[in-house]
Amino acid sequence: MAEAADKDPLVAEREDYVARYGVAPSAADHATLLRMIEDLMTEGLKTRAEPFPETDREFAAILDELRHLDADQLRAKLVVSGWLLQPYGEDQMRCQECMYFLVHKRWCDLPELSLPAEPDWWCRLWRI
Ligand code: SF4
Repeated sequence: MAEAADKDPLVAEREDYVARYGVAPSAADHATLLRMIEDLMTEGLKTRAEPFPETDREFAAILDELRHLDADQLRAKLVVSGWLLQPYGEDQMRCQECMYFLVHKRWCDLPELSLPAEPDWWCRLWRI
């Protein structure tokens, strides 16, 4: 028991993904990563959709936070970026119109995220 309690949370998270999907996020293909994201979100992960970064400084602070995360810390990436599986706000902002969205690859090309994304999803790093 003590061994489990002492386990590095990153190692434990990585092992959870491997047990469930056969692979860690850093080595997962597009379809598997997409499934991991959908599972985390539909199982109730609460992400920080707010506050929306109104200034470059606020935007940069979120990027800084993301940069410190390991590629296998998928849960934290989603939380910090404020990831949602639906459009957001009065303007119904979504990945489809975001400058980082690669339409044909269905991919978020923001280097600090670098994850599969769907046109109707959104995160608070949305930019046009
Ligand atoms: S930065 Fe956010 S809104 Fe833009 S494509 Fe990536 S996940 Fe979607």
